[in-house]
Amino acid sequence: MSSDPTTTTSVLASTALSAERFETLAERVTASGTERIHVSAPATDSEFASVPACDEGDVDAAVERARAAQSAWADRSPADRAAVVDRFGDLVLERRDELLDLTQLETGKARRTAAEELLDVPMSCTYYADTGPSLLGEERRRGAFPGVTSARVSYDPVGVVGVVSPWNYPLTLAVTDAIPALVAGNAVVLKPDEKTPFVALALAELLEEAGLPDGVLEVVTGSGPVAGPALIDRVDSVAFTGSTETGRSVAERAGRNLIDCSLELGGNNPLVVLDDADVEEAARGAVVACFTNAGQLCLSAERVYVVEPLYDAFLDAFVGATRRLSLGTEFDYRADVGSLIDASQLDRVEAHLTDAVETGASVVTGGRHRPDVGPFCFEPTVLTDVDPDSTVACEETFGPVASVTAVPDAAAAVAAANDSPYGLNASVWTADRERGRAVARRLECGTVCVNDAYLSGWAAIDAPMGGYGDSGLGRRHGPEGLRRFLDSKTIATSRVGPVAFPSGGATKWALGAAFGLFGLQRRLRRWRR
Ligand code: NAD
Repeated sequence: MSSDPTTTTSVLASTALSAERFETLAERVTASGTERIHVSAPATDSEFASVPACDEGDVDAAVERARAAQSAWADRSPADRAAVVDRFGDLVLERRDELLDLTQLETGKARRTAAEELLDVPMSCTYYADTGPSLLGEERRRGAFPGVTSARVSYDPVGVVGVVSPWNYPLTLAVTDAIPALVAGNAVVLKPDEKTPFVALALAELLEEAGLPDGVLEVVTGSGPVAGPALIDRVDSVAFTGSTETGRSVAERAGRNLIDCSLELGGNNPLVVLDDADVEEAARGAVVACFTNAGQLCLSAERVYVVEPLYDAFLDAFVGATRRLSLGTEFDYRADVGSLIDASQLDRVEAHLTDAVETGASVVTGGRHRPDVGPFCFEPTVLTDVDPDSTVACEETFGPVASVTAVPDAAAAVAAANDSPYGLNASVWTADRERGRAVARRLECGTVCVNDAYLSGWAAIDAPMGGYGDSGLGRRHGPEGLRRFLDSKTIATSRVGPVAFPSGGATKWALGAAFGLFGLQRRLRRWRR
């Protein structure tokens, strides 16, 4: 990594950001020590600013501040809390230029991808501002003894929610879980990835401007292995997004602390092209599925299965469309594909590719590191003849590498797609949407997009999103995405005083009557069906 001031100045000159702006943002973090985390721009591999490295004590203090602020926040009406979140959505749209600059600077991604993630924030705000309050009201449920007892359910915020977010979509993933948590009346302590703290701090600033009281959202910047466990040990619920490996350790820790956790983890997502698909459309979709954000998207497709009659035509179209993609790191909308995040991500992509080739794969297009474009830029790559036991076939590459495999029929495509410990997202291409949905039902994953790569699933904010198997636990989006941050309370009331069987000689008689009534009620229920 370079700390050459000329390189840093040149990357900052492409944006409207200044060194003073980073200082202002970093000052939002309260830390007792002097240790710093240096943040660099993947486009030039140069440091541009630093944030405090929070230790366990700093995390403790942040959670205490959040806890102190939470009850007054929870006392405000749900509509009032929703209005703050709604205003935040407006501010994100208004300040989009700076947020896009920050996102691109920290991640090296193409601006069009940054714009896509930015749009997700006001979408989440709209959804939870509109639906959140109605999800929080008291509900009547069926009582134990009709006419005699009643049951009502009310919902309380869990308290302080810890959000741990990754670097790949640092703008939306910093707040997509925080938004429903806040509407539900919780306080939030957010720990963004060390590589992308500034966009999270800028969002925290906008939440404050939108009217969020002091302390209700705290940001701690620190290394994952230090700040992460410290956070999980102090909060009442965790929403984690990141790798499956770290997710397991988060779940273990949450389990020991007996707190709830939702885990949005990795994937090795399949894309299936059925024999009736429009090949050109499927190829365009596959390019989006495989190469958006240089493949550093949890929903990215990495394994493409094509039913045999279409294999050659699809491969031609897919390779042609892949070759037309432009690679770049400019702070404008010219590039289709941007940089990988850092040297370790580049190493991972190269290692997976080397293993694929050594185990028999052919590189049909791409396959090269492009330091002439950016230090971590890598060409969108299409492989064929991939060994099903190779690393690229079995593990998440999280880079711009897709393998294409011919399969005899739809059943074989489903079997190959399901042959993975992951189950996050899948994509199915067909001329017959009903057939597509039938195939989708047989795929073992949390979202399946028919005739789309991932966006129609991700952006269906009213519908739950999450993973099967090693791709995670719990769901974000939809009512499920808010209810995970609530404790439910059942209040049962008797109209007749204590509900109990009489004692003494009447017990046998009363129990007999109860068994008889209960049996009659069960029979009537069946008869009414
Ligand atoms: P990572 O697990 O290394 O890091 C994610 C976050 O966890 C960071 O904030 C990091 O600082 C923190 N962390 C690290 N060690 C920790 C620990 N011991 N305890 C608590 N927190 C800790 O993830 P990554 O590799 O940087 O991110 C990419 C991964 O995230 C990919 O596998 C990708 O598929 C996954 N991801 C999943 C989704 C989803 O919605 N399912 C979305 C985006 C990314």
